[in-house]
Amino acid sequence: MQQEQISKFLKLLRMAQDIVVLTGAGVSTPSGLSDFKSLYNSKSLFQGYKPIEILSNYFLVRNPKIFYDFVMHYFSKPCEPNVCHQFVKILEQTGKNVTVVTQNIDGLHQKAGSKKVVELHGSLNEWYCTDCGQSRTFEEIKDLNLFDCENFGCHGFFRPDVVLYGEEIKKNALNDALRSFSNADTLIVMGTSLKTSLPFELIKNVFRGYTIISMDKDFVDFPQHQSPKMRIQEPLEKACKQLNFAIKKEYATHEKQT
Ligand SMILES: [Zn+2]
Repeated sequence: MQQEQISKFLKLLRMAQDIVVLTGAGVSTPSGLSDFKSLYNSKSLFQGYKPIEILSNYFLVRNPKIFYDFVMHYFSKPCEPNVCHQFVKILEQTGKNVTVVTQNIDGLHQKAGSKKVVELHGSLNEWYCTDCGQSRTFEEIKDLNLFDCENFGCHGFFRPDVVLYGEEIKKNALNDALRSFSNADTLIVMGTSLKTSLPFELIKNVFRGYTIISMDKDFVDFPQHQSPKMRIQEPLEKACKQLNFAIKKEYATHEKQT
């Protein structure tokens, strides 16, 4: 990023009070997490099935054990937040009201310290039994290698509390997203192509703020009449690293006070 762009970003940030940061897969890929999008589109078969088939409600209810093995195979590796998650956390440290609305299910924003996180597609860290509803963390599921519910007399199995194909976004997540989008004066869109309908609709119909900043190495199509005031078209990690430095410098006093 050139100095001019960094200054422009800081200027837009100075005007912001209520910020929504919308994040997608691009924010988590530097953490080494399997990118859902490429996984969905991957042609490689898992136990004879395409990933896109497996990650659906239809498949889960018919082949829960294969679904379970699939999740363990691709998502059980521990991951740490990266510089992009830190960027979002640093925004919060400037004293502005920051809400993260994420399409990711990895919980890395919370792990980085972000306080207000709306998980549109649920969380891989929370699991529950399909029959009795008892909940378990992903850590417990992994440690105990739990698939069948261990409660006496229960015939259920454990699944992650994520939104699969064929399932609806949870009402409370949707309401939280609607509220934060309608209250925000500034929207930062990071690492998502806006190809899924909900984030696109939220920007088109709910966001009424002044500033939109697009951060993605690719050119992202925004709804008509909602074009970004600023596009940072660079690799996310690189841009975040520079911005983290610049924001910390500008808001150093705030950080010391807290
Ligand atoms: Zn159970």
